[in-house]
Amino acid sequence: MIMEDIQRDITLKDYTSYKVGGPAEYFFIAKNIEELKRALVWAKDKGLKTTILGGGSNVVISDKGLMGLVIVNKSHDIDIEGNSVRADSGVLLKALVNKVLESGKGGIEFLANIPGTVGGAVAVNAGCYRKFAADFLISATIFHSRASDGNTLKVAEQSGDSFRVEEEWMNGCIEEVGKDSSSVTKWNREEENVKLGGLSIPLHQVTGGQVKSSNKPMFCVEKVKNDFFEFKYRSSKIKRGYEAIVLDATFEINDTDMGESRKFITEDRERRDMKHPTEPSCGSYFKNPSKENIAGELIEKSGIKGYQIGGAQVSEKHANFIINTGEANASDIKNLANYIKKIVKEKTGLELEEEVKYLGEFE
Ligand SMILES: Cc1cc2nc3c(=O)[nH]c(=O)nc-3n(C[C@H](O)[C@H](O)[C@H](O)COP(=O)(O)OP(=O)(O)OC[C@H]3O[C@@H](n4cnc5c(N)ncnc54)[C@H](O)[C@@H]3O)c2cc1C
Repeated sequence: MIMEDIQRDITLKDYTSYKVGGPAEYFFIAKNIEELKRALVWAKDKGLKTTILGGGSNVVISDKGLMGLVIVNKSHDIDIEGNSVRADSGVLLKALVNKVLESGKGGIEFLANIPGTVGGAVAVNAGCYRKFAADFLISATIFHSRASDGNTLKVAEQSGDSFRVEEEWMNGCIEEVGKDSSSVTKWNREEENVKLGGLSIPLHQVTGGQVKSSNKPMFCVEKVKNDFFEFKYRSSKIKRGYEAIVLDATFEINDTDMGESRKFITEDRERRDMKHPTEPSCGSYFKNPSKENIAGELIEKSGIKGYQIGGAQVSEKHANFIINTGEANASDIKNLANYIKKIVKEKTGLELEEEVKYLGEFE
């Protein structure tokens, strides 16, 4: 049962690579996709905001914590068929690549040493060596709520002055979760419109009345193609605010030279060990403003390598890493990021933009 496994006031530090962040009001670890879906319905039913975490390797969570339900996604199934691999969104990228290589295929080795999940990689369009998750993503299954755009309400049945209203999904819904169509009674044409579950029923469908039973949450599980995500450099429609959860993703893979693939992964690991600091971080903090303007070089040129605010420091090893020296809190990290942006702007005239996602309230 979902309810019994939902915990209160769990510190989120332990679920992020930065080791910062206050408590989650409600907290749940989803071990598979069914649990993930049930937790989302539970939260919606309670009117709670939901935040999903994969590896927690690209977020800074507020010291005040997060209101609503935080779900840590540990779904883990992987299926390989021909030249494609379908993986649950909670699968770690390393596990995904290993499984693909075990099957004799490859092509997505660049993801192997990125410390996140499939869902996180799609949401933020993770990548390296000029390759991105978006280049290989064929399709994904997403879960989104009625608040999403593109849906209309329709009157499904009419009997006397009673109406049953259903939501019509614009894009093919392959599964409806938590569905309960709503009734409107005491219809009265003189009134302007009916509020139903926070939505107004269009005038041409019902022009007035009273909601008899408030409708339960309704979600749509939908299979979407790559273009749905409107990918950009280190960003997708989801990262930019569209409310949807990635349940699984299917990537293109191909025949590979196994020796070369393994060699690439080992060398990438060695390069990372050499260049990256060992202290907690979220990887590269800022996006490169352009191919010619590399964020780390701009920060270094601005003379602030090693600069520290509280427990957060610009890494001496790699200037685009803000590290947690041990006692940092989320505010230290954000304050240091703001300072870096200010100094780089003053010294180079260029604006830096965060790659990392801030979650929760900051001053
Ligand atoms: C040492 C280090 C090295 C790194 N190197 C790289 C690198 O080379 N390239 C790179 O791109 N990144 C790198 N990163 C950053 C990070 O690992 C990636 O961005 C990764 O893809 C984030 O995945 P995650 O599962 O940890 O996401 P999280 O940090 O858990 O989440 C990131 C965002 O995605 C959302 N999200 C997570 N799962 C889902 C889902 N299923 N559905 C919808 N939204 C979801 C979250 O709500 C959040 O807004 C590095 C990080 C570290 C610490």
